[in-house]
Amino acid sequence: ATTKNTVRDFAVVMTQIVLWVIRFAPFGIMGLVADAVGTNGTDAIISYLHLLAVLLGAFFSVALIMNPIIVWLHIRRNPFPLVIATLRESGIYAFFTRSSAANIPVNMQLCKRLGLNPDVYSISIPLGATINMDGTALYQGVCALFVAQAFNVPLTLQMQIGIVVTATLGSIGTAGVPGGGLIMLTMVLTSVGLPIEGLALVAGIDAILDAARTCLNVVGDTAVCAVVAVSEGEELLGGREQG
Ligand code: ASP
Repeated sequence: ATTKNTVRDFAVVMTQIVLWVIRFAPFGIMGLVADAVGTNGTDAIISYLHLLAVLLGAFFSVALIMNPIIVWLHIRRNPFPLVIATLRESGIYAFFTRSSAANIPVNMQLCKRLGLNPDVYSISIPLGATINMDGTALYQGVCALFVAQAFNVPLTLQMQIGIVVTATLGSIGTAGVPGGGLIMLTMVLTSVGLPIEGLALVAGIDAILDAARTCLNVVGDTAVCAVVAVSEGEELLGGREQG
């Protein structure tokens, strides 16, 4: 019982410390942005806009081109009703919560309405929310390039392959909570030898990047779940109705 109480008290203390860090984070981030803009001038803002444009372009390409192609290849019918339904429902919720984990019930409801088998979606949606983070992998890869350019580090082929591998592994290891991908970005940067200070550059606009990448993370989960369900002989009822 004493050990149990100690562990519980430790958990309470840790939770409190994490809450303090979360509350103070916006001030720290504002300081980092002020420092980055103060040191690099308004060029920093232009670079941020550039980063934002590249990432949003990549996110939209995956959501509206790559995902529909994957769905079409497996289901052989118009994938857009399904893709639009996922973007309209889970996508919007994920954008505002910035958490794949919080989105699990919303995604499951959607799968239920699409007529998918609960045996399939009750496994694939929680699993996907934890490991299937294409938005996060994309974000970590692009941010690593951004940091390399900002610090004028030439990227060898070996480093580029390292970024692809660590960003993929990093996204699998990222927790489905707001800002999880930013923390794992430290691993991507250090493992390929990029300066960890680069994190400060992207931390300033992480909230908006997080909203967008979480949206992509969850819509991919539903698309893959539908593909798995159909490969198991399911009929995608709701998707057709919604189309
Ligand atoms: N917020 C993201 C998610 O929950 C994880 C990340 O920060 O990349 O999917």
